[in-house]
Amino acid sequence: MGEIGKNLYLYEYLDTIILVDCGLAFPDETTLGVDIIIPDITYLRERKSAVKAVLITHGHEDHVGALPHILPELPGVPVYASTLARGLLANKLKEFKVSANPLLPLNAGDRLNIGPFSIEPFRIGHSIPDAMGFAIHTPVGTVVHTGDFKFDQTPADGKGTDFATLARIGADGVIALVSDSTRAEVPGYTPSERIVGEAFRGIMSETQGRVIVATFASNIARIQQVLDAASELGRQVAVVGRSMEQNVKIARDLGYLRFKTPLVAKEEIAKRKKQPLVIATTGAQGEPMAGLAKMANGEHRNVEIQGGDTVIVSASPIPGNEEAVGRTIDNLFKSGANVIYHSIAQVHVSGHASQEELKLMLALTKPKYFVPMHGEMRMQVAHGRLATQMGVAASSVFIIDNGTPVEFLADGSARRGKPVAHGSVFVDGASVGEISEIVLRDRRTLADDGIVVVIATVDASTGRPVGRPALVTRGFLNGDEDNKLVEAAIDIALKAIQHKGDRAAETGLIKAQLSESVSRFLSRETKRRPLVVPVVVEV
Ligand SMILES: [Zn+2]
Ligand SMILES: [Zn+2]
Repeated sequence: MGEIGKNLYLYEYLDTIILVDCGLAFPDETTLGVDIIIPDITYLRERKSAVKAVLITHGHEDHVGALPHILPELPGVPVYASTLARGLLANKLKEFKVSANPLLPLNAGDRLNIGPFSIEPFRIGHSIPDAMGFAIHTPVGTVVHTGDFKFDQTPADGKGTDFATLARIGADGVIALVSDSTRAEVPGYTPSERIVGEAFRGIMSETQGRVIVATFASNIARIQQVLDAASELGRQVAVVGRSMEQNVKIARDLGYLRFKTPLVAKEEIAKRKKQPLVIATTGAQGEPMAGLAKMANGEHRNVEIQGGDTVIVSASPIPGNEEAVGRTIDNLFKSGANVIYHSIAQVHVSGHASQEELKLMLALTKPKYFVPMHGEMRMQVAHGRLATQMGVAASSVFIIDNGTPVEFLADGSARRGKPVAHGSVFVDGASVGEISEIVLRDRRTLADDGIVVVIATVDASTGRPVGRPALVTRGFLNGDEDNKLVEAAIDIALKAIQHKGDRAAETGLIKAQLSESVSRFLSRETKRRPLVVPVVVEV
């Protein structure tokens, strides 16, 4: 809640707890030197014996990435997932030597009874095949937990959402809908994955040269589109990049990736320079250690960019990565490639529903209460507004933060509960592989643009600032002429955290306000992006 990463949802009835998803978050500019961030499970640790199962909606990192770190604390608790998610997970757990938890099948159409809960998974469209939502039937009513979704009528795997089941669940009565808010601010419909396939085909038919496509290693749907377009145009495909090679192997073994011609081994690429190969790789976010950046810098072991190559960057940069992506694209152009990216062609679409689809979800499920999830606060608020437009009472929309429970009572009412222990746990060094790219990015920012620490003191009971914030910089500003800038930045920071009325100090929010306002101001004034670290002292 209040963020897109580290998804972990907990459903509790008397002495039974089931978890839905257990994901990680990647660090942002405030978490220097950290590899990954996982949810704080103090609350679960205190109720270990009540935890009966972990249910997985789909195999993306923000939904399964924390399992290797958290399962050791929940030995014996079974993890239920669909076939592809189970394949990806088994591989991950093996890598981390986690073996004390059974990994059990749960597929759309099954029924799973756990204590007072009866779980009915249904198929839902997303950027990875085999994604599921759950209808969780409980003694106080049915909760629909959508998982990540979009309503794609022509998905890459030809399956998409099971509308009939959703409508039936809605007709039977839904007490609460818990729904994906990622794109709640975006009007209209999210375009179909099919659009990207058409763009790929267009590009591949217009050039005689090789085509290199970079995307997320976990975006199996996108990789399928690459394979389909290539096969239609008689091109052979090679996959390079450790995580993508692994995922492709798992997905193919389980029947989730279809391809007619065998893949070209990456060692063969250098020998077949003249052939119009299609090369799928990682690094669409400009990660310095991933395939694309290495190719752009002439450091890739298997692929050397040559004149006539076309590179497709099939992703839109996550905020904070724009510069790295831009640099990779520049370097690719310099190496003689033509580069096609999201702002010049539709080579990427989101895996998440836009407003009209979110409304359709509300219309199908007709919930009494609504809990927007998987979004930053403003996205959850936007999603809440959609729900009220769709007839949910404003007082029945729960915009909640991490750790805040919503309690459903036997009389059909619901209320906000007392926040429980929650937060972030940082994992550094224990992780393997490409994760450390993020750290490198942070450290590079630090080296290039310096660091700014903003320290604000706030009254814990009113949330109001006490005095003016302080600002400390290293490697960013020096000399007297910059004093004016520092004072102006402090003014901006102070303004950002002032508010009318009293409310308990929400440290996370204040930190976000501090870092956002100061970052924006400094980058506008100086054209540099120092690492801004907010510190809030409560008195
Ligand atoms: Zn996802
Ligand atoms: Zn997600």
